[in-house]
Amino acid sequence: MKTTFFNILIAGFSLNICSCQNTNTMENKTSQTDTAKISKSSEEWKKQLTSEQYRITCEGGTEPAFTGKYWNHHEKGMYECVRCGNQLFTSDTKYDSGSGWPSFYAPANSASVGTKEDKSFGIIRTEVICSKCGSHLGHVFDDGPQPTGLRYCINSAALDFNKDKENKK
Ligand code: FE
Repeated sequence: MKTTFFNILIAGFSLNICSCQNTNTMENKTSQTDTAKISKSSEEWKKQLTSEQYRITCEGGTEPAFTGKYWNHHEKGMYECVRCGNQLFTSDTKYDSGSGWPSFYAPANSASVGTKEDKSFGIIRTEVICSKCGSHLGHVFDDGPQPTGLRYCINSAALDFNKDKENKK
């Protein structure tokens, strides 16, 4: 499964509005709904997260390709939100996209993540966010494998891995 150079290039560009500072606007644009939302101030997130986790999840940053701890990770288990523990992606849908970022063809369930339009850098992309806390996770593209044809391109720094929790759907 080859990823084009263009996809790698645009996936590397990500500077979105900080979801920590404007949760009301963000929630209005979220395509999924969740009744148990978590809202914290920027200062609270800074205390909880490493500087890299904050840059990516709160400021819409992107880790360099082939540097995160999960792009080449193959254990069975659940990938959870590093900020709130929301169950986001199962190892069952993880695949090697060749992009250098953890890639999944589907979220753990339909309520795990939300999406919103990202027009940064003059490119229209679809941003993926945690449906519970609004964390920036990455982007979703339509060049993934079947059965969905989607590629959720996610930053390792936005994830925690829990090998004891596999998807029990
Ligand atoms: Fe979260």
